[in-house]
Amino acid sequence: MEVRNLFRENIRNLAPYSTARDEYQGELGIYLDANENPYENGYNRYPDPHQRELKRRLSEVKGIDPSRIFIGNGSDEAIDLIYRVFCEPRIHNVVSIAPSYGMYSVAAATNDVEFRPVQLNENFELSAADILSAADENTRAVFLCSPNNPSGNLLDAGQVREILDRFPGIVVVDEAYIDFADSPGLLPLLNDYPRLIVLQTLSKAWGMAGLRLGLAFADPEIVATMSQVKYPYNINGITQRIVLDQLADPQKVSEEVAEIDRERERLLPALEALPLIRKVFPTDANFVLVRVDDPRGVYNTLINEGVIVRDRSRIKGCEGCLRITIGTPAENRKLMEILKEL
Ligand code: PMP
Repeated sequence: MEVRNLFRENIRNLAPYSTARDEYQGELGIYLDANENPYENGYNRYPDPHQRELKRRLSEVKGIDPSRIFIGNGSDEAIDLIYRVFCEPRIHNVVSIAPSYGMYSVAAATNDVEFRPVQLNENFELSAADILSAADENTRAVFLCSPNNPSGNLLDAGQVREILDRFPGIVVVDEAYIDFADSPGLLPLLNDYPRLIVLQTLSKAWGMAGLRLGLAFADPEIVATMSQVKYPYNINGITQRIVLDQLADPQKVSEEVAEIDRERERLLPALEALPLIRKVFPTDANFVLVRVDDPRGVYNTLINEGVIVRDRSRIKGCEGCLRITIGTPAENRKLMEILKEL
């Protein structure tokens, strides 16, 4: 199906809001168009609603044309917008994987869209056949996550491609953790699949969770439509400025990611060697899922020592599991000291 025919009818017919900054885009001038306070303090002016400079720079960093980049207030904004743009409440449904990132189902619920989770197998592997058989003519999107949260593993690219080839709606692949994986991810497939949306974020490897900046890479028509539906000034001016500064030095981030990867390689066998730990799941992300006999007890012991991990043990498929983020070498040492005592 053509991408255009997948948009909700009200969205296809939308007359979008035009900001003062849409009507005049010069740099120098006396701005009496936006009812701002005229006394300069560094943030008295509205930011660029189209984030042009930021998209230019991200385009260089990612090797993707700016027309294919949507910038959201975290990738959570992009997830919500995908529902709002493609899914008619109470009519359409979305198929996803389980266990996975919780916001796919929360955004489905807030948008009154049926959510169909398809359980991954015991090693958290994806089956294209299972996804395709859960979909019907009202399925507008499939949400996948690779590397998957909370399991940590990359999804099999062949299975993802099969879904892309055979499912006629939108396929979202959330690559929030791709920078930690030894894989180029799916950005190279964007040209071949106009119904593919790849989500990434600056919140993880890039070290900017506090700034709130998420990315959706997609067909220019999808990007343009999501941009019409978003709040006009969704990325604040301070975030735009700081992110541009940070992107000037990608080398620093690469070094931090390499250090985190090295720590992961050290931590995994050390965890594996602990009698307390029943299973360490393989991971391509900056966290690891481990199975223990008494997850609540281990969680509470860690908390009492000031170390906070995520208890995922009540999630189907994650029975007995805690999710542990890879920290600094000192933080990981502290974690291991506490676990060894148990
Ligand atoms: N996707 C996944 C898989 C995540 O784990 C998270 C955050 N935990 C997000 C998206 C949201 O990231 P952001 O900070 O960009 O909203």
